[in-house]
Formats: sequence, C-alpha cells, structure tokens
Amino acid sequence: MILDEEPLLRSRGLYIDGHWVRAGAGGTREITDPADDTVIAVVDEADHDDVRSAVAAARSAFAAGRWSATPATERADYLVRIADLLEQNRDAIARIETLDTGKTLRESHIDIDDVIAVFRYYATLAEASTERRVDTGNPAVLSRVVAEPIGVCALIAPWNYPLLQMSWKIAPALLAGCTMVAKPSEVTPLSTVALVALIDRAGVPAGVVNLVQGGGEVVGSALTTTPEVDLISFTGGAATGTKIARNAAEHITKVALELGGKNPHIVFADAEFDTAVDAVLTGVFLHSGQVCSAGTRLIVHESVADDFVAELARRAARIRVGPGIDPSSRTGPLVSRQQRAKVEAYVALGISEGATLVAGGKRPADPALAHGSYYLPTIFDNCHRDMRIVQEETFGPILTVERFATEDAAIALGNDTAYGLAAGIRTADPVRGERVARALRHGTVWLNDFGYYTPAAEWGGFGRSGIGRELGPGGLAEYQEHKHIWHNTAPTVEGWFAD
Ligand code: NAD
Repeated sequence: MILDEEPLLRSRGLYIDGHWVRAGAGGTREITDPADDTVIAVVDEADHDDVRSAVAAARSAFAAGRWSATPATERADYLVRIADLLEQNRDAIARIETLDTGKTLRESHIDIDDVIAVFRYYATLAEASTERRVDTGNPAVLSRVVAEPIGVCALIAPWNYPLLQMSWKIAPALLAGCTMVAKPSEVTPLSTVALVALIDRAGVPAGVVNLVQGGGEVVGSALTTTPEVDLISFTGGAATGTKIARNAAEHITKVALELGGKNPHIVFADAEFDTAVDAVLTGVFLHSGQVCSAGTRLIVHESVADDFVAELARRAARIRVGPGIDPSSRTGPLVSRQQRAKVEAYVALGISEGATLVAGGKRPADPALAHGSYYLPTIFDNCHRDMRIVQEETFGPILTVERFATEDAAIALGNDTAYGLAAGIRTADPVRGERVARALRHGTVWLNDFGYYTPAAEWGGFGRSGIGRELGPGGLAEYQEHKHIWHNTAPTVEGWFAD
C-alpha cells in the first residue's frame, strides 16, 4: 500500500486518552485513492464501545479541569506548536490529502496553509478579554459576563475538505478550553490521523483530543446520541444535519451545523467579461465541484448570456482533468464511484428536465483515467428555478445557467434557494454591487471575487445551510458558555419578607 511507509500514519488506529489504540472489536476499513481505485491504507473502524471510551476520556479530562484552567495564553502556545509542526510536515500532509480525496496537490497545499493559518489565528485570540463588565446601576455590584468552555465536544467532518474542516473545529475548541472527540469522514480520515499524531507530538495533555474513526451510522450516531457530549459541531450534508439535530434535541445538546449550499453567481452585463468567465469557472469546477460554497448556479444578464455561456463551454472543455498527484492536472477525480454515480444521476435528471447540455455530461474518454472516478466539467444552459438540478446540491462539476433581465429579478433568483451559504456578484458598478450584496440572504457574499475566506471572518449559512458560525470570534463563541456573575460587594437586608 502506497502509504505504508508514511511516518505520520504509523498508527492508523484510534487515539483515546493520549494513546493510540486498536479498535476494540478489531474492525478495519480500506481507504482508496479515487484517482485509480487502489487501496492506499487500512485504518481501524471503531464501534459503540470505542466511542464510549473516547467520550469518557474527554469527559474525565474536562472534569479534571486542568485543561480548562490552563491560561488561555498557554493553550495558545499549543496551537502555535501544532501550527509549526504542520508547517514542518506540509508536503507529507498535502500528499496524504491528495491521495485520499483526489484533489490536486496545489489545492492540498492551499488547504494545509489554511489549516496552519487557522491554528495561528486562534492563538492570537487568547489575549482577547473573556470578561465583559456590565453596569447594573448599583455601584456595590460587580457584574460581569465571563466566557467558559462549553465542555466535551463531538467534532464531525466531511470528506471534501477533511483537514480544513476539522481544523476549523479543533483550533477554537482547544483555545476555548474544551475537550473533544474528533470523527473524520470514513472516506477520507488520513489527514486527520496525521494531525492527531502532531497534536500528540505537540504535547497536548491526554484526554483533551481524542480520535475515533468509522462510518456515520455507527460511530457518528454513537457520538451524537450520548448525553455525555455538550456540543456537536458538524459539517456535512443537510440530511445528516437534520438527523443530528433531531438526536441532539433528545438531550438538549447544543449543535453547530455547517451544511450544504446551492450558491448563485450573479453576472451583470457591465461585468468585465474575461475575469467574470475566469471566476465562474474556478468558482464551480475547483475540486470537481465538491465544494460546499461552489458557485453552481450562474445567473447571468440576458444581454450577455449567449456569449458568456459559449465562452464558458469552450473553456470548460479545455480543463485538464487527471490525477491530483500529477502537477499538470487542473482538477482531479470525484471522491468515490458513489459520488460520481450521484453526479451522473443529476446529469440524467437535468436532461430529462429539459436543460440544454452545452459542455461535459460524461466521463473523460482518456483510457488512462478509466479506473478513477472522473467526470468532465458539465454545463447546462436554459435552466429555470423549478428544476431540481437548480435547487438541489449536486456536489459535482455541474453548472446550471439562468438568465435575468433586471436587478430585482437577479436578487429574487439568488435568494430562491432553501440554502444560503454563499453567493457571488460581478459588476463594474460598486453601488449596485453593495446594494445586491445586502439583499442576498447568504452567509458569505463575494463582490468581484469568488471562493476566498479568511480565518478572522465568520463562515456559515442562512436557511438550510446551517446553524451557527465557524471561524472568527463567532467561531470561538460556539465553544463557550457565557456566565453572568453578579457579585454584591456590600449586601444589606432587603426586607422583602420583613418580620
Ligand atoms: P455527510 O453528511 O454524508 O457526512 C459528513 C460526516 O457525518 C461524516 O463524517 C459522516 O461519517 C458523518 N455522518 C453520516 N451520517 C451520520 C449520522 N447519522 N450521525 C452522525 N454522523 C454522521 O457529508 P459528506 O458527504 O461527507 O460531505 C458533503 C457535504 O458536506 C455537502 O453537503 C457539503 O455541502 C457539506 N459541506 C459543508 C461545508 C460548510 O462549510 N457549510 C463545508 C464542507 C462540506
């Protein structure tokens, strides 16, 4: 197996209470490279009892209070140490991520740099005051609201940005003083195993970070039905998010949900043509469209639509699809055969719904790619809001095109989705751009840009795209409880129930 010799993956088991352990019942799972379907590693597969042990380790580490009582600046030192170790192992982790997910090495390097940045960013928040004084009107009362760690967190991540999404959870949870059990996607666990190996090397105390591996039905569900968890932070699909929210309701467990998106990219007639074409292509076809914030709905002014779509189709046909590990590939395979089958079903649906296929719509013809889960960048013109391919997250390289005549119509189309994760606007008119940005009901709006984010700005969705925020100070607040301490420094008899 290709990753047998990788030092960061020396253990592929579970990490519980500061030790690498084997899955109790001896379960294992093969991890494959979607570029050619070969097995690259075999990892342990946890069961209910393993999850129970991991949660118990996190619970007793939290109850012991040492981690939460460690000054935030010291916890931040651990974050910096983890970031340094990630930096030293950047190339190895990028290779692991590419072999596991199929994304290009260039994208994996960008992801790892973003992971490093998020650990460094949260380290800087240690100095921020965790206490807010409140004026009660009574000078004898010292009243303040303090932020405290919420407790034991279940951190569940998807397969499209395995390490990035997990880092958005682990970094703020550590800084807040929480303890945690992390569960990567069973499809792409390897980079998280590597990260936990580095967390161990950084000396984070036993029980603070625990790792379980396995599928959603057993491991995910065990993690989200226990009353021993205080917060479930989940990134993944809307259907799973619904199940988790339902489970969490049983014990009134707090949930933070980062779910899917069906993200509009609105192009006005005055937008600079070449940069707009470029941004629409990158916005939808990066990582073969397996991006929660992918700009999958092009909403373009009718006066430029024909030329715009023709150029998009021409450029899409030239995108070099190939193994992520090959530097000449511009985009890689889909993560699995299952995911490709889902995309193929959506393409068949689009055709049956009457959309016009103008690019892709099939697997690449190159016999060298026959064993991988490849699919060509695909564009459907003449789409309308009632089509399922316009409303549902396809999570693949599929762009739908709708046309508009007026600004109001563009806004209405942009908001006509159950989701609300992200949106893009292209226009040469900054006043209109700002007006449309405010009118769109999405968690992130890019004006004359697409896909960028920074660890310092909150990320999350309106509507069915989720509950809560990651990144920024808001992303830290998810891992905190806020306690009001009312301290009367000069108590007197009130005499409400006087003798
Ligand atoms: P998924 O919902 O199938 O799985 C996500 C995680 O949940 C995995 O670890 C899985 O094992 C686990 N899981 C599955 N069933 C579970 C259950 N019953 N209980 C508990 N855990 C369970 O999602 P996916 O296919 O891995 O990822 C793709 C989805 O993630 C897309 O919808 C995408 O939009 C979304 N996503 C959102 C963001 C965001 O920031 N909003 C970022 C990345 C991905």
